[in-house]
Amino acid sequence: MSAALSITGLCKTYENGFVALDDLNLQVEEGDFFALLGPNGAGKSTTIGILCSLIRKTSGQVAVFGVDIDRDFSAAKNNIGVVPQEFNFNTWEKTYDICVTQAGYYGLPRSLAHERAAKYIKLLGLWDKRNSISRGLSGGMKRRLMIARALVHEPRLLILDEPTAGVDIELRRSMWDFLRQINAAGTTIILTTHYLEEAESLCRNLAIIDRGRIVRDTSVRALLRELNRETFIFDMEGNLNAPPNIDGYTARLIDANSFAVDLLKGQALNDVFSALNNQGIKITSMRNKANRLEEMFIAMTGSGDGSDGESPS
Ligand code: ADP
Repeated sequence: MSAALSITGLCKTYENGFVALDDLNLQVEEGDFFALLGPNGAGKSTTIGILCSLIRKTSGQVAVFGVDIDRDFSAAKNNIGVVPQEFNFNTWEKTYDICVTQAGYYGLPRSLAHERAAKYIKLLGLWDKRNSISRGLSGGMKRRLMIARALVHEPRLLILDEPTAGVDIELRRSMWDFLRQINAAGTTIILTTHYLEEAESLCRNLAIIDRGRIVRDTSVRALLRELNRETFIFDMEGNLNAPPNIDGYTARLIDANSFAVDLLKGQALNDVFSALNNQGIKITSMRNKANRLEEMFIAMTGSGDGSDGESPS
């Protein structure tokens, strides 16, 4: 079985001499749900732009399901659906027509184009808006329209650039469910994201890109296993003005009645509880800080979104 995507020695130097991709190598297997992570400016959009021929590579090879894009671009194109970050449809065109037009670009016969447009508009929850011009849609609806449009030719590989940027949490969850379903049905998915929780929750494998190179290429599970520190957040009855002193553990105050404790591999929550108990601190709830990948990402690329993820909810 050939890989869904195989990138070898990919380089891109922009006209101004800026090296955006520097010998990038990446392989994504068919059926995978793959995350391409990286800080702003790492080269994610440049890579995607090259895959859909919006950007001309300087050197290197790209193959989609075994077909070199230089040799047979139209075969590669038919196998790829791309959801770019920016809305790039005709804002005066109707939702339904946008999807039919797109199907036409891929050479689908008219009746099939209508069938597919209806199918994906319904699946993305936009049927009520099929006759609305896209300009009038909310941001979340536009995002879903971009996905519907990318799917009308039923590509084997779907690539999404920051699909849930600026999308509210509820919609994000339903988009995740939708993407999981189409992946389970056989579509290979690659997404770029800033939300590490998204990669953690959706993806099996990931690569971290930094300054135009892959600095890590592994499975999400293996990466999480490597993390030797877990942070737990405790909410308590009453107030503290300093973090509790727990022998052998680091605790940080988050606000007057919640604090975070780091546990290293092998350390037991039980010890933390008995220390707190001895100090008369009553815990009302506890949660595991969700975004552990964030810490690893920051350590690897020296960047992050600036939030410590510990603000009380
Ligand atoms: P990402 O998607 O990871 O945020 P990009 O691929 O958009 O990163 O950009 C990679 C780098 O290339 C950035 O430093 C960006 O400023 C630079 N870049 C992007 N497009 C151009 C261009 N047309 N000319 C010069 N530099 C560019």
